[in-house]
Order: sequence, then structure tokens, then C-alpha cells
Amino acid sequence: MSSSDCVFCKIVSGRIPCKKIYEDEQILAFLDIRPVSDGHTLVVPKAHFEKLHQCPPEVLSKVSSCVGKIVQAVVGAVGAAGYNVLCNNGRVAGQLVDHVHFHIIPRNKGDEVFTRWPAYEYEQGRADEIAEKICERL
Ligand code: 5GP
Ligand code: ZN
Repeated sequence: MSSSDCVFCKIVSGRIPCKKIYEDEQILAFLDIRPVSDGHTLVVPKAHFEKLHQCPPEVLSKVSSCVGKIVQAVVGAVGAAGYNVLCNNGRVAGQLVDHVHFHIIPRNKGDEVFTRWPAYEYEQGRADEIAEKICERL
């Protein structure tokens, strides 16, 4: 499956060049063209799925079985102290490319990559209410 106007499908098929990190039958990993830190890598299934929940479990399983070893290589290569693995889904969540992908973002102390994490506390009873609604859908 591929989408003719999808930039990551074009990278997968070689129509757009990339700095390739890892490839197998189902997965491609390459450097992000506009990194937020050195070594910022994208891991994508070769097949086109827009969002995480649309990916069949076997594709997700394949991605997750590769991410650990790619992370190790990326983090080791740039000497990072930590990393984030991030998957944006939907415009409101920051997804700009509609082909599911996982960012591997090497992190170092004071790098200011994510400067704001707007955490707050639930009001009384709200967590129960939300958890119940979620569970009803599972
Ligand atoms: P999103 O915001 O959708 O989670 O992330 C998309 C990422 O894809 C961005 O970090 C952006 O820099 C990267 N990107 C977009 N176009 C290209 C491209 O043509 N080549 C590479 N290597 N990365 C790209
Ligand atoms: Zn695609």
C-alpha cells in the first residue's frame, strides 16, 4: 500500500533521497531532514498507514521490535544521555506527514528540546469518570 502524494512513501520507493539508517522488508529508518537534535531519526513502516491505530498489529509489532536496536545505535553514535520516542497523530498533535512514523530524539541535559510539559491535576472524580469511559470502549 502506498499513497502517491505521501512524502514518506516517496522516500520508501526511492523517489526522494534520504540518509538511510536501517532497512528491512517492512521498515525504513532515516535521519529527519529538520532535526531537533543530532541523530533525530524517523522509523516508518514501508506500507502507508496514516495513524498509529490504523496500523495492523503485525506492522506495529515489527516496528517495535526494531526500535530498540535503532535507538541503541542512534544514541550511541551521538553520545546522548537519553532519548524520546514519539509518534504524533493528527494535526492537533503535531503530525505533519500523514504516514505513521516514530521519532527517535536523542536528548542531553539542558538541550531545551521540550521546554514545556503542561501537566496539571484532575479535579475530584474526573479521573474515575474518564477511566470508565475509556474502559467502556475497550
Ligand atoms: P511529524 O510532525 O509529522 O510528526 O514529523 C514529520 C517529520 O518529517 C518532521 O520532523 C520533518 O522534519 C520530517 N520530514 C518531512 N519531510 C521530510 C523529508 O523529505 N525527508 C526527511 N528525511 N524528513 C522529512
Ligand atoms: Zn505514505
